[in-house]
Amino acid sequence: MSNSRFRAVEAAFHRDVVKAEAPAPITSEYYGCNVFNRKVMRRYLSADTREKIYITIEQGATLDREVAEHVAAGMKRWAQDMGATHYTHWFQPLTGGTAEKHDSFTQPHGKGDAIETFSGSLLCQQESDASSFPNGGLRNTFEARGYTAWDPSSPAFIMGDCLCIPTVFISYTGEALDYKVPLLKSEVAVSNAAQRVLRHFGMGDERVQSLLGWEQEFFLVDSALFAQRPDLILAERTLIGHNSARNQQLDDHYFGSIPGRVLEFLKELEFECYKLSIPIKTRHNEVAPNQFEVAPVYEQSNLANDHNLLLMTVMRDVAERHGFVVLFHEKPFEGVNGSGKHCNWSIGTESGVPLLSPGKTEFDNLRFLTFVANVLKAVYDNNALLKSTVLSATNAHRLGANEAPPAIISTFLGDHVSKAFEDLLETENMVHIERESGYSIGVPRVPELLLDNTDRNRTSPFAFTGNRFEFRAVGSSANCASAISAINTIVAHQLNRFADAVDARVASGEPALKAVIAETCAVYKDAQNICFDGNGYSEEWKQEAAARGLDCETCAPRAQDCLTCPRTLEVYAATGVMSETELRARSEIAWETYSKKIEIEARVLADLTANHVIPLATRYQSILLDNVYKMKAVFPGDEYAELASTDLATIRDLAGHVNRARILVDEMESVVDEVVAIPCQRERAIAFHDRVLGYMNDVRGHVDALEMIMDDQMWPLPKYRELLFIH
Ligand code: ADP
Ligand code: MG
Repeated sequence: MSNSRFRAVEAAFHRDVVKAEAPAPITSEYYGCNVFNRKVMRRYLSADTREKIYITIEQGATLDREVAEHVAAGMKRWAQDMGATHYTHWFQPLTGGTAEKHDSFTQPHGKGDAIETFSGSLLCQQESDASSFPNGGLRNTFEARGYTAWDPSSPAFIMGDCLCIPTVFISYTGEALDYKVPLLKSEVAVSNAAQRVLRHFGMGDERVQSLLGWEQEFFLVDSALFAQRPDLILAERTLIGHNSARNQQLDDHYFGSIPGRVLEFLKELEFECYKLSIPIKTRHNEVAPNQFEVAPVYEQSNLANDHNLLLMTVMRDVAERHGFVVLFHEKPFEGVNGSGKHCNWSIGTESGVPLLSPGKTEFDNLRFLTFVANVLKAVYDNNALLKSTVLSATNAHRLGANEAPPAIISTFLGDHVSKAFEDLLETENMVHIERESGYSIGVPRVPELLLDNTDRNRTSPFAFTGNRFEFRAVGSSANCASAISAINTIVAHQLNRFADAVDARVASGEPALKAVIAETCAVYKDAQNICFDGNGYSEEWKQEAAARGLDCETCAPRAQDCLTCPRTLEVYAATGVMSETELRARSEIAWETYSKKIEIEARVLADLTANHVIPLATRYQSILLDNVYKMKAVFPGDEYAELASTDLATIRDLAGHVNRARILVDEMESVVDEVVAIPCQRERAIAFHDRVLGYMNDVRGHVDALEMIMDDQMWPLPKYRELLFIH
């Protein structure tokens, strides 16, 4: 489709399609039209340049400067044809979200003239003056520079009038300051390690990809109501608010029909996503009222993650056009289900052989069991690390509540795979292997039915779901690269250990497949403690998990300690994904972010309580007092005593809550002031957890009680029933 024709389609889309007054354009006609993809490259780059850039994209070869100049020239022409006037290096700082600084193509030239410029060096690298991004001590002021450098494996795209170039963000001394660098390095690590293991299966020449399919949950709130809630505006969650009489107990929202205005929003969201090649596949209502989910078709992890971040940006924009605000916070409403971002993760060869799917032959099944056993072992050995990548100030509200996975990482295999492992263990010694026939291993064929095995344990944080693992502990607001790069890294490390062990056996004369089976059995047996098929919410599991040696820490700042424990340092050093300095910086940033978030919440709560709720509660109290006075004047003694008794009780109740709330808020504020002054980031974050959260709960208890007592018309904020049921 030509650009001008497309613009016409786009205008019509916004006008008619969203309102269901015209049929939608055919997706395939405009899919990816805002992306510098191969189709576009064929029009804007010479064959020679294309060949070189493809090698860079596919094999990670370094791009030479001359080719970069050609690519930049083509990209600029395309961007201008598409109406773009600016460009930006688009990156993922550790604050979360994405960052961009727009530069104009326009360059003053000569006397009063201007030209449009964009060179290879501007495409490939920029110095960022973004010294206010968190760096965990990685940048001293004298070397406060950071660099952004092009990641050619993720295509450039256009948003609005800006050409966006996906980049990594590193310090002057080369340390990663973002989420992308570790993810890219972890992809290489897991590929190399998986190839080593695959060589024992007669494969391993091809690279192995880590694949990610995320499921993004979110809430939509009417923008007018949102604007009246300072807590939503400043903290993205309600810090006070009594439960609505009805919330999700009817279970009528989940998979129900999508409300009209929401559907219009989703249609436009999909349209915008398809323009950017974000392969959105499903959309549905979630468990809580006004909660929804969209999920794409899975992609190679780095691209999938870029697409998730882009989706979050696009979603905010589109929602605004429909009078909504999107909440990505993990727990915007107390007592109502929170939002997660399930990360479906697997590995497969570049040509598409899935390594976590049972195969057609027993030989393929052995390969499958080998990879699954190693994933289990990696998760077992590093369960605390995995949790640390997802346990944040915001996600802590969700993990451990009886709706999301518990804050203990375990895996669930399901009956079929567990049985296959038992059979493998049982027959280990009797196995005779002939690679050609591939049927005599003695492992019973895993039934094809497995793929449709719906026997899924919804309470499991790391569940095997037929051809992948689903990491359900990731929070909806998170950059999932944090979790996915950790999974890739620990699996890479474990696969290397496995390959070392098999190599050693083979070197001492053992047949390769026998060695693989023996090691697979050993690894599986070692990892037994991570497998749990029961109810993850139960008290017994918490006790049993502790007895099994699994990490049971629920305090987010303390959970970060394992980022720098000897095991983690070893795993990251051996795989080359992150250095000790980088890991230390990450834990510092996690503590810093935690403290900042809780400080903001505590201060907003104090303001809401002292300046919004208490003044009105006091006013309501005096209205009641006034009434009581007048009753006393009008009614004779006995009658007055009887008639005024409920008002008097309410006044006592009100005054009690107002007093307690006021005292607690004062105490909380002075504790926050003390905690903020603690110089050590770790100690400060822990103090926020141990000393401030309790106050916040107590204050909220009194405020929520006041909400139930006070005249509805006097309540200063939109209530849960409005926030959750108006759409
Ligand atoms: P459910 O809600 O049943 O978990 P969804 O359809 O909402 O499933 O999401 C499943 C996600 O998992 C999708 O993004 C899908 O593309 C992805 N997925 C499917 N197979 C794989 C795989 N082998 N590796 C990674 N992701 C996968
Ligand atoms: Mg789903």
